[in-house]
Amino acid sequence: MPWLRNFIQLSATFTRRGLPPPRKPSAVFGPPPSIAQLLQHFSSAARSTDPGLGPTKGDEKPRVVVLGSGWAGCRLIKDIDTKAYDIVCVSPRNHMVFTPLLASTCVGTLEFRSVAEPIGRIQPAISTEPGSYFFLANCTGVDFQNHQIQCQTVTEGAKTVDPWNFKIAYDKLVIASGAQASTFGIKGANEHAIFLREVHHAQEIRRKLLLNLMLSDVPAMKRSVGSCTVLSLVGSHRVEFSGELSDFIQKDVHKRYSHVKDYIHVTLVEANEILSSFDDRLRKYAIKQLTKSGVRLVRGIVKDVQSEKIILSDDTDIPYGVLVWSTGVGPSPFVNDLEVPKAPGGRIGIDEWLRIPSVQDVFAIGDCSGFLESTGRPVLPALAQHAKNVLNENAFVQVAERQGKYLAKLLNRLGKAGGGRADAAKDMDFGDQFVYRHLGSMATIGRYKALVDLRKSKVKFFALW
Ligand SMILES: Cc1cc2nc3c(=O)[nH]c(=O)nc-3n(C[C@H](O)[C@H](O)[C@H](O)COP(=O)(O)OP(=O)(O)OC[C@H]3O[C@@H](n4cnc5c(N)ncnc54)[C@H](O)[C@@H]3O)c2cc1C
Repeated sequence: MPWLRNFIQLSATFTRRGLPPPRKPSAVFGPPPSIAQLLQHFSSAARSTDPGLGPTKGDEKPRVVVLGSGWAGCRLIKDIDTKAYDIVCVSPRNHMVFTPLLASTCVGTLEFRSVAEPIGRIQPAISTEPGSYFFLANCTGVDFQNHQIQCQTVTEGAKTVDPWNFKIAYDKLVIASGAQASTFGIKGANEHAIFLREVHHAQEIRRKLLLNLMLSDVPAMKRSVGSCTVLSLVGSHRVEFSGELSDFIQKDVHKRYSHVKDYIHVTLVEANEILSSFDDRLRKYAIKQLTKSGVRLVRGIVKDVQSEKIILSDDTDIPYGVLVWSTGVGPSPFVNDLEVPKAPGGRIGIDEWLRIPSVQDVFAIGDCSGFLESTGRPVLPALAQHAKNVLNENAFVQVAERQGKYLAKLLNRLGKAGGGRADAAKDMDFGDQFVYRHLGSMATIGRYKALVDLRKSKVKFFALW
């Protein structure tokens, strides 16, 4: 029951400390919510505006509000000094996903729980400190003038519950809401493909793969459901997924579903060179390995996606049983709607200290942000792929992670120096700028092999384990 899952997820935030702690009436936008009010959220009655968290008072700690529970947001939350700040994290998921290993969960090499870490484990203060919270919600807008954000709780559509809108005031706001999968407007992609970004996507891929394998045993269905197509236009983790899938087919399927082994194929469709950001010799090696392990590499541009086949621009079609779409990322509607200067590719424009320079106390990190052109800095990965930038996708986590770490230090320093409250750091020295140093890239290609491209020394390949 989706509403019950929502209830458990959200109420866990409150019950751990026995419902939201009593706040002074002046410290909230309205009176503190009663149990009945909280439960009303789970009824079908619409509630447009509800109490939220108002501006912090002198006897409370300043509040850092973090949007997103991804690599950047979680690294920041982990390192924030909870003696100096209360933390409020707003995100539509209550855990962090270790994305580089997500592909391994699709075929059972790893279990789903191995790649997800609950927020409360990353930063225990979220579950124990009276002024710190996790809210299972999306941020829908930011009022930069009044230091407050607008949020809407996550529901699973009209059949479950109506969303609940509320506001949160911030002293410091960190936007770490990531990017979203891009389909380049290709017809049918949203309807028919599965995107690999979240644990539930990996679950869906695994479920569909196994279902198709089972159905393939039925003689008349062999050809229609057997072939697995992995569609990829850009990026190295689709290569990793193809490698994983191919390993699975070569080892498990050949043993356990030997009747249908000849009907299962992995096809990787790529508009450009695969692993184009890697050294030429590494790329050739990867192509050889992937081909050897049974992955069919197709160079082509997809123009249409139908329920059982994809059509390329030269009108050839590729039938599929499972279609996984991983074609790079673009800005989310939330980021698009923010009225702040944007970096190339539509990301939130930031300065050298990761601040949005046009407003006070707001920072942006990870895939949703990019240096403003005026800083003279290159666009760091995420949308860099679109911008044909030199940096590759395997640097994403490095960027997000290191920005989170840097910003936590910066905020802790400001907090200690008395600059934690809204508008208190206006004239303060922000110290050293954020500097990104690319340490290298790695992509696994199945069969316990990986490519490692280090900046100075090029390591060809090595056995992973
Ligand atoms: C399958 C896969 C494999 C990958 N493999 C690698 C790899 O091997 N190496 C590598 O370096 N990079 C890899 N990446 C890229 C890497 O995961 C990202 O660069 C990194 O996650 C970016 O971190 P982030 O915090 O900016 O965004 P994310 O990790 O995407 O987190 C964004 C968070 O914001 C939340 N959010 C979204 N909208 C809102 C909103 N309106 N309000 C509040 N919260 C919101 C999301 O739910 C999420 O919790 C991979 C990505 C994928 C999908």
